[in-house]
Amino acid sequence: MERLDAFMARANAAYYATRDPYADFTTSPEITQVFGELLGLWSAVTWEAMGRPDPVLLVECGPGRGTLMADALRAIGGVAAPFAAALRLHLVETSPRLRALQAERVPDATWHDALEAVPPGPVLLLANEFLDALPIRQFVRRGDDWAERFVDGGAFVERPAAAPEGADAEDGAVVELCEPACDVAGHIARRVLRDGGAALILDYGPAESAPGDSLQALHAGRPANPLAEAGSADLTAHVDFAALARVARDVGATVHGPAPQGLFLTRLGLFQRTGRLARTQPPARAAALVQAAQRLAEPDRMGRLFKALAVCHPGLPCPAGFEP
Ligand code: SAH
Repeated sequence: MERLDAFMARANAAYYATRDPYADFTTSPEITQVFGELLGLWSAVTWEAMGRPDPVLLVECGPGRGTLMADALRAIGGVAAPFAAALRLHLVETSPRLRALQAERVPDATWHDALEAVPPGPVLLLANEFLDALPIRQFVRRGDDWAERFVDGGAFVERPAAAPEGADAEDGAVVELCEPACDVAGHIARRVLRDGGAALILDYGPAESAPGDSLQALHAGRPANPLAEAGSADLTAHVDFAALARVARDVGATVHGPAPQGLFLTRLGLFQRTGRLARTQPPARAAALVQAAQRLAEPDRMGRLFKALAVCHPGLPCPAGFEP
């Protein structure tokens, strides 16, 4: 018997170490090159607002195949040569398989197993669909009491537990808690306060904390049983943006958002940039680029459930895309 977070940690470590995640799901940077380009330009603009520190750490957590960073660096190289020269690339990735793929696309990087290992210094940090893969705990309201979910032989078992902090829910409702994601938010906040900088977190989840079981497994693009053999599918859960924002603000950082991804990317120029790129392409490719941008931005696709959150040094102005 294992607590759910221990099961999820073991399952995802095995999954990312041995499988090609992109056979089971796709992500924004894999849908269109414009996503990574816009995040690269966001970093360049934010670097200017920081007073152009040189050197500056450009950090990505969970870089997947390295697509986002390769697209970001290409865009930065095109319009922001001083930033390109100042940045030092640090990638946080635990999977040796994915590190090898990342090294093919982004050779000039230093890899780390954990964010804590990244050296100090002014920082710009990007994380897309990283926090949703971190292990969650689930608590279930049972009358006046609470239970916590464990996994035993492919099924949930409940054991009596203390009430999760601040939680209120109806009988039978599930409340989720992602301690590692809160730790990451706290670490980022302390870091930008100490050394200066900003972090941009994109992921899927509600803007306000709400009860509900969001644990999901994807296999070959279809929902699968999350409690099946550990490592056979990618396990994710909704990111609790309100909880992350609370942790970062408690430390003293300034938080912007969460903004719906569609609004955020549109403000950064998703459709203008896509249009400019599409005009240089043959018709079929041009149409595919426009459709890809729509997929990221439309509310009933990835535009609303996905959110962007910025964690910044309090001295920075409101970052691009978060204007009230
Ligand atoms: N950002 C990429 C990949 C998302 S998949 C994209 O948008 O396509 C999640 C990524 O986080 C993978 O690279 C995975 O190996 C990595 N990852 C998962 N758990 C991690 C952990 N605890 N520490 C570091 N990296 C982790």
